[in-house]
Amino acid sequence: MKNKLVFLFSLLLSSNLGIAQQDSIMLDQIYRHSFYKGKAYDDLKILTKEIGHRIAGSPQADEAVKWSKSLMETLPFDKVYLQDVAVPYWDRGEKEVSRIVDTEESLSVLALGGSVGTPKNGITAEVVEVEYLADLSKLGDAGRGKIVFVNKPWDESHVDAFVAYSLNSSQRSRGPVEAAKRGAIAYLFRSLSSSIDDYPHTGGTRYAKDIDSIPALAISAISANKLSEALKKNKNLKVYIKQNSQWKPKVNTHNVIAEWKGNIHPDKIITIGGHIDSWDVGEGAHDNGTGTMGTLDAIRTLMALGYKPKHTIRLVYYMNEENGVHGAIQYGVEAQKNNEQQIVAIESDAGGFAPRGFDIKASQDAVSWVVNNWKPLFEQKYWVSRFLAGSPGVDSGVWGSKFPNTIMFNLRPDPHRYFDVHHTAKDVFERVDRRELQSGVGALASLLYLVDTHYEAIPNQIK
Ligand SMILES: [Zn+2]
Repeated sequence: MKNKLVFLFSLLLSSNLGIAQQDSIMLDQIYRHSFYKGKAYDDLKILTKEIGHRIAGSPQADEAVKWSKSLMETLPFDKVYLQDVAVPYWDRGEKEVSRIVDTEESLSVLALGGSVGTPKNGITAEVVEVEYLADLSKLGDAGRGKIVFVNKPWDESHVDAFVAYSLNSSQRSRGPVEAAKRGAIAYLFRSLSSSIDDYPHTGGTRYAKDIDSIPALAISAISANKLSEALKKNKNLKVYIKQNSQWKPKVNTHNVIAEWKGNIHPDKIITIGGHIDSWDVGEGAHDNGTGTMGTLDAIRTLMALGYKPKHTIRLVYYMNEENGVHGAIQYGVEAQKNNEQQIVAIESDAGGFAPRGFDIKASQDAVSWVVNNWKPLFEQKYWVSRFLAGSPGVDSGVWGSKFPNTIMFNLRPDPHRYFDVHHTAKDVFERVDRRELQSGVGALASLLYLVDTHYEAIPNQIK
């Protein structure tokens, strides 16, 4: 009896080893293909250099949709199609101008996405500086008729730059409303930037009903320091701001979708992708050209290796993540209407730097299972070791709110340099390293292969 048990146990062990070995061989092939033959970097060059930045609703965004669809059509997908999405179109208009009036020193500013413009001739007003948004409550009437300037430097205490970013992002999203409540006529805030340079970082902001919508702009770190120093010498100095942004009528545009049909469970869908729109400065290279070109290249890698998926793999390029998330909302509406079985979502929208791991949104049992079974395949050989319970990407998080049982993976590249370039004129193709990007493709394709091959073995999920 004892011998029999030992025999059964060793059989079990060897078959497990067999699976792990097969996986390990497949991951080797995937990474090798990605480094030698991967094309994410070449595709990214076309997207960034020939199309450029592409805010939702703009002609460039439309061009990106058409080009992405034709790119997907070059691959042996079973279906490539566009999904209609209506998006708000915010247009920056002519470049912003700002300066300290007395000294004529210019200040580098960028209107925040969604901001109203100044009157045609601009505004000139005194400035009241605070460090934190919360300090506005202590201002009393001191901000009335003035430009409110929130000057909180980047928080270096967080090694994960995404944490530093998210802890301070309310300065951008809620700042204009909080300033307007105190009677401010414009809002300036120090860019959410991890580097001290003269590039302002844009990003979305919001207004509230019954509170005045005031012009809202980000100021670069260097210009913020300059203004702060000048205010120390003369607290009554005036600043001139002129910016010309406005909302245009809604525009009909699209999510771009391609499907590779599963041969065992065609009705079970693995959604993988990222957003195709970008802000209207730079080239939207890290945010999010790398995510869109990288996820496509991950699928192309599996196709080139002759892989046949068990489940349907669906590539989605979401439109309008940056200023409304309408693409992801529409994707969720359609998926729910069609009663789809969305088993897994994978998103890439955190830059094209060297991959470090995946955040996982799933039950505790499922997360532990992934950590125990898959992390060992990645960590030593490929330097991908951070597998933690965490948030999905923005787009999958939005549609995923209707699909609570979908396991969601969010690619986490190295975070150190992302907020140097995020939402700025610096987010260009030249900032992306081919080796780092193709290494991310290796990680995405490996994860895609593993979830497709082993989904049924993961505990607590849709069976
Ligand atoms: Zn993004």
